Amino acid sequence: MERLAKIIRPTLGIFSNLGSAHDEGFTSLEEKVREKLKLFHEVEALIYCSDYGLLKSEIQHLKIPSISWGFKAGGNYLVQQQENKITLQGKKEEFNFVLPFTDKASVENALHGIFLMLHLKYSPSLIQERVTVLQSVPMRLELKQGINNCQVIDDSYNNDLGGLQISLDFLGGLQKKKKTLILSDILQTGLEDSELVSKIQEMITRSGVQQLIAIGPVLSKHRTQFLSKEIKSRFYETTAEALTKISWEEFNREIILIKGARIFQFERIVARLQRRVHGTRMEIDLNKMAHNLNFFKSRLNSGVKVMVMVKAFAYGSGSEEVANLLQFHRVDYLGVAYTDEGVDLRKNQISLPIMVMNPTEESFPLLLANRLEPTVYSMGLLKSLIEFLQGQPCAVHLEIETGMHRLGLEDNNLDEIIGLLKANPNISVASIFSHLAGADESKHDTYSQVQFELYQTAYEKIADALRIKPIRHILNSPGILRLPHLQMDMVRLGIGLYGVNPTTDSIDQLQPVATLKTVISQIKKLKAGESVGYGRWGQPDGDMTLATIAIGYADGFSRSFSRGIGQVIVAGKRAPVVGNVCMDMTMIDITGINAHEGDEVIIFGEGMPIQEVAANINTIPYEILTNTSERVKRVFFAGSY
Ligand SMILES: *Cc1c(COP(=O)(O)O)cnc(C)c1O
Repeated sequence: MERLAKIIRPTLGIFSNLGSAHDEGFTSLEEKVREKLKLFHEVEALIYCSDYGLLKSEIQHLKIPSISWGFKAGGNYLVQQQENKITLQGKKEEFNFVLPFTDKASVENALHGIFLMLHLKYSPSLIQERVTVLQSVPMRLELKQGINNCQVIDDSYNNDLGGLQISLDFLGGLQKKKKTLILSDILQTGLEDSELVSKIQEMITRSGVQQLIAIGPVLSKHRTQFLSKEIKSRFYETTAEALTKISWEEFNREIILIKGARIFQFERIVARLQRRVHGTRMEIDLNKMAHNLNFFKSRLNSGVKVMVMVKAFAYGSGSEEVANLLQFHRVDYLGVAYTDEGVDLRKNQISLPIMVMNPTEESFPLLLANRLEPTVYSMGLLKSLIEFLQGQPCAVHLEIETGMHRLGLEDNNLDEIIGLLKANPNISVASIFSHLAGADESKHDTYSQVQFELYQTAYEKIADALRIKPIRHILNSPGILRLPHLQMDMVRLGIGLYGVNPTTDSIDQLQPVATLKTVISQIKKLKAGESVGYGRWGQPDGDMTLATIAIGYADGFSRSFSRGIGQVIVAGKRAPVVGNVCMDMTMIDITGINAHEGDEVIIFGEGMPIQEVAANINTIPYEILTNTSERVKRVFFAGSY
């Protein structure tokens, strides 16, 4: 903390919460508090909750200037809470606020924020306005619809004693007769096992929980401490044991709090108890996406910037969420194909610079109003942009034709371009780039090198004539993987972000982020001589178990998968398409597979690589991803699962 304090040199501090996290590194709570307080020795003001008695005495002892509040008297402000109304009673003044939640964790966090804003002299009315739009602590106490009308509180994110108390409080506030707690061992508390167990036991007894399912060696070993008439308890050494021994279907109309340390993988229990979301959906794992981004970054020389291409609804996975993740991870640029795509990103609070590859004249007003940066690929486009701008400033990107023969300025345009840019200094050139036609295959490496040299010549000509040094870039995902010497100032990452390897080289580090899933709507038994679907193309030659699944070509499951060309995964096994794919449905052969109506079906994802799916119908993963129609719901995962 001393070192951190020197780096950060905070002028204001909030000591947010004193729980059992990190206890294992300290001999006592005092020692932990002292260490944490070292961060705040020089602050002008430290905001903290005076109900933590130990914290209070340490802060007073160190004479750190502070603003304290508590639900008990003893701080600068006494806080009273009535449902979602709070009163802050100071020596001289009183404030009243209405919060959008009532649970302890969220209220405590909000109070710290409120006291900070008061200290910074924001008006109570403005504070109220801001507080109104706060959301409760996310991820942690998430209420999910469970099986058999149960409700599941998924708090499998962290497990310390303070967190357990907050969750039990939350549980206590919910109306439901029967309450079950599924709890793992609490790790790294620094307490002796028996002491820890008796603390847990006390908390549970006070909480009104009727049933305890305890998982882990420590809780199991001390099972006798939990003997009680009020609480029925069961103990398991491991999560796997609990998963097989508990008859989960017996949970009925109750509320189940699931609280476990990460290593216990309680997300598996959550999955077992959660009601399945029906219908077709594309699941996007944002953790894997972040992993892929970092993998590509690790391949870059230091200082090389990253533009991520999020065109076509971020390759089918949902622009808003993906762009948010990228903004969080501080990529340098986003690239889209059309102005509208950029406008959508701006509407969703994306503030990164955005390059638009294919702007049209009609879209210039929107471009300008949304700070989007057009690509100039032709003389005509530049001239109409100049005309439209009438001297207003605008950043542009120059695309150079070097051999892709798609869009780009030709060699014989360059003199004129230079002249126009000289005459219109309101237009600034943010970057000059080109695009490789064969970055994915070694047989095109010579061609790629020629493209690069043509690009460099054009770049130098423009840069020298205008005395500018715009960002230089030419590589797409396969280029980043295969042609690292062409990185220059920036690269343009596309399909690699989604975990698809666009080269023929094998790369283990990429993790596919997208899984397309649907469900079985109905199962039928067929005999030889019967037929399936339009045109009666499906013709079983013996007994067949047939399943109708809820996906068709309107969802992006191409009609080319008809008649056995496509396969999907049911219960871990492959099932071929029977007959023709319909608009909204498809029939598959599940003979010999143990499956039920409502079961999940994987179209691509784990066990069914998108490369293979694409190859079956002679296309590429890019097309499979982006074909998935927008009516298919995108579900995003982050955190531990
Ligand atoms: C789509 C695109 C990219 C990204 O290509 P990937 O192969 O998906 O990495 C890069 N540059 C341009 C100009 C593009 O159109």
